[in-house]
Amino acid sequence: MSEEKAAPAYERVLLKISGEALMGDQGFGLHPPTVQRIAEEVKSVHDLGVEICMVIGGGNIFRGLAGSAQGMERTTADYMGMLATVMNALAMQSALEALGVFTRVISAIRMDEVAEPYIRRRAVRHLEKKRVCIFAAGTGNPYFTTDTAATLRASEMSCQAIFKGTKVDGVYDKDPVKYPDAKRYDTITYDDVLAQHLGVMDASAIALARDNKLPIIVFSLDEPGGFRGILRGEGTYTIVKG
Ligand code: UDP
Repeated sequence: MSEEKAAPAYERVLLKISGEALMGDQGFGLHPPTVQRIAEEVKSVHDLGVEICMVIGGGNIFRGLAGSAQGMERTTADYMGMLATVMNALAMQSALEALGVFTRVISAIRMDEVAEPYIRRRAVRHLEKKRVCIFAAGTGNPYFTTDTAATLRASEMSCQAIFKGTKVDGVYDKDPVKYPDAKRYDTITYDDVLAQHLGVMDASAIALARDNKLPIIVFSLDEPGGFRGILRGEGTYTIVKG
């Protein structure tokens, strides 16, 4: 079998990226060339025939906790954060469709003129038709994060793994940017991530992944071709599992 035809290691995955991944070096908002670059990474995996769900955070625009720290009512601030994720989802939809990849933005908060409402069986059907499903507005509930939304949607969609794209190529015992002797784990358990406060995802997301036996693959989104490589069993990353 030629290399191109080798079956990918996963058939259905969820890619979680933070909102900050879309802002480039700007420090705020959306950086279209960066959105485009990530869309190209997603397309290269889509081209393998992998069914792809996405959850994008909103931290490049607004975070509920930051709003409430400045005196805003917390639930209102969280709804603003959820709306920020919808803007990011629409930006990703636009970039993917410009590359010829069909997508659906599916919102946990109804806004029918902008995005489909979340109906699980309908979303599964979109995946079967090879449409990339971008789940927006988090879980639809305040006091959660998009990490938890990613774990929830990945479980509901029967994804085989969550791919958490970050700035570094896995989970380290300490910050590899600050400490050159930091060690990367090839695998680590959910319980160790929680006990050592390793900050892969927030604690509720890790606990939900653990309870649903959903592996989390932490990899670098800055590595060109990295996402596709892992799908084909290559590359450097950490798997969080039981
Ligand atoms: N949020 C929420 N409920 C959810 C998901 C997100 O209230 O289910 C809000 C929360 O205020 C959060 C913001 O949306 O701060 C943006 O999401 P997140 O902080 O997870 O974005 P990221 O850090 O991944 O960019």
